[in-house]
Amino acid sequence: MVGYICAKCEAEIDVNPVVEKIICPECSGRVILKKRPKDMKTVKAR
Ligand SMILES: [Zn+2]
Repeated sequence: MVGYICAKCEAEIDVNPVVEKIICPECSGRVILKKRPKDMKTVKAR
């Protein structure tokens, strides 16, 4: 499963990579950004 994020409303979209047409269910935007797996930063607790 690949995660996508809408460029307009920044809504997380879970779609199958097989589907080419990806439209945001929230704002029906066609500008979708790929969500990088290394997006989360690890913060050390001091
Ligand atoms: Zn959207």
